[in-house]
Amino acid sequence: MVYGALDIGGTKIAGALVDAEGRVVARAQRPTPARESAEVMMAAVTSVVDELAARPEWASLSCLGIGSAGPVHTFAGTVSPVNIPAWRSFPLVDRVRSHPAVPVGVEPVLVGDAVAMAAAEHWIGAAKGVANVLCMVVSTGVGGGLVLGGSVHAGTTGNAGHIGHITVDQNGPLCPCGALGCVERYASGTAIAAHALESGWAPPAGLPATAREVELSARAGDPRALAAFDRAGRALAAAIAATAALVELDLVVVGGGVSQAGETLFAPLRRHLESYAVLDFTRGVPVVPAALALDAGLIGAAAAGAAASGLIREGTGARGRAATT
Ligand SMILES: [Zn+2]
Repeated sequence: MVYGALDIGGTKIAGALVDAEGRVVARAQRPTPARESAEVMMAAVTSVVDELAARPEWASLSCLGIGSAGPVHTFAGTVSPVNIPAWRSFPLVDRVRSHPAVPVGVEPVLVGDAVAMAAAEHWIGAAKGVANVLCMVVSTGVGGGLVLGGSVHAGTTGNAGHIGHITVDQNGPLCPCGALGCVERYASGTAIAAHALESGWAPPAGLPATAREVELSARAGDPRALAAFDRAGRALAAAIAATAALVELDLVVVGGGVSQAGETLFAPLRRHLESYAVLDFTRGVPVVPAALALDAGLIGAAAAGAAASGLIREGTGARGRAATT
């Protein structure tokens, strides 16, 4: 038995066949024609499915999960990825289902990419077996997904856990989403680099002003670079503390490109969390790096497809924090 997976992102369209232990046994990939028409985009997806369907393992396909950059509408089966302008309410589930190689009875299951990441970490990664988890993706933007009561909680339209757009400063800067002071405006890679620049930091000559360059300066002790990471960690901590108060978290998993900064991000995050998460039941929630950086999108799409098809049993044997400490 293999689980099919598609991962639609702004730079690549990836597909995989994943075995019941979460190992990728076949993969296919195309660059995303993000500036092309809706049909050129769909042709790239079709071509990924064609390549997977040519593999002998395809004969034992038992489910098919699709993770996509958001917003998604899982109930309607449509996607409107911010970075793919030609796809607005695009009926991706219907289109994939009608691919001639997709067996009758295999119903494609759509999830947002951050929810997919949470599903992957919960299946075989850092959140395996943990009942209540917030998984965050800190990258160009900030996304997230929730595991509640041992199951991935995607919400009615598949966007639950969207932690990047929780307000952490009522008087904060305007976010492209329309709200003020969103986490993303402080903690995304873009925000970290922008804040460092505003405070007088500059990248080494000839190099771009990226969060990675800010991180290298922070490691070398540059106070403006350190301040940008402190500000990011503080915003993440405030959002984590709010989430812990709402749903009682056992664990927080942080992935995405900016999380590769390691302690440069995690140290201020944990320090601020101590001052924000002060209620007894919110105190001391562990914050750990993601385990599946590279293939989390594909493995998570497979996990979501398998869970929706009843192939992965969720909600059983999940341990809470009280049981682990
Ligand atoms: Zn926002």
